[in-house]
Amino acid sequence: MTDNGITRVTIDVSATLRACFGETIEITKDLQPHERVCTACRGLGAIKRDMPFAMRGPGEAGHGFPYHQEYVGPCPNCYNGIEKLCEFCAEPLYKGYTSGAYWCNCKEASDERSRTAKDKEAARMAKAKRVPLAEYTGTMLFRARDEVFVEAEDAREDARDDPEELYYACDPVDNWVKPAAAELIDDLDNRAADEWEDFEGLDLTDEAKDALQNALDLWWTEHVKLQTLYYPNEDTIVVVPAESEPEE
Ligand SMILES: [Zn+2]
Ligand SMILES: [Zn+2]
Repeated sequence: MTDNGITRVTIDVSATLRACFGETIEITKDLQPHERVCTACRGLGAIKRDMPFAMRGPGEAGHGFPYHQEYVGPCPNCYNGIEKLCEFCAEPLYKGYTSGAYWCNCKEASDERSRTAKDKEAARMAKAKRVPLAEYTGTMLFRARDEVFVEAEDAREDARDDPEELYYACDPVDNWVKPAAAELIDDLDNRAADEWEDFEGLDLTDEAKDALQNALDLWWTEHVKLQTLYYPNEDTIVVVPAESEPEE
């Protein structure tokens, strides 16, 4: 086929496979429970795929993709030739978009998923640090039920309606955006390395790094006001005693 300058070649893949594997083309798989050889690629882990394309040359109808770029690529149905089966209903699991993620929508599997999520949440809650409100040094709290920020000084009154209310500590976001000496030094290093081919690194002592960090912290405290942005720290629960009566 030579229209549009296309040359079609056909490759004998069986000859290629024999050249790679030897005359007997075999692979071995040890299947774990709830696994089977993929029904789509028969365990090869790869199938014939195609990237059809068009060349919009003169005289061509301009519909469809008449040319082919066939290749052997990863099987979309499995990982490495193995399909995972649901341990509850034995149906093949959907292959997730991220590697290693499998999914079944049967009732037992989704019940199991919510059980796991609940257990995980219970474990997180059990591990969380508990700080009495009186000892909490932050100014903001995060009310978990409706994800609302509450001023720490209003928390007792806030908890009056529901003594079971759960509050998380809040850390100022500025810790995340504060300039870090290590990053600045890395940046200097990189720029110097770009300028001098035989540059061997700034090789600064820990003291020098600390001195820069201290200067940065001082400058930050004096000049940057970001203290109004908080994020909930779910590792720390602030125990707010419910106020029985308003303090008057
Ligand atoms: Zn497959
Ligand atoms: Zn299932």
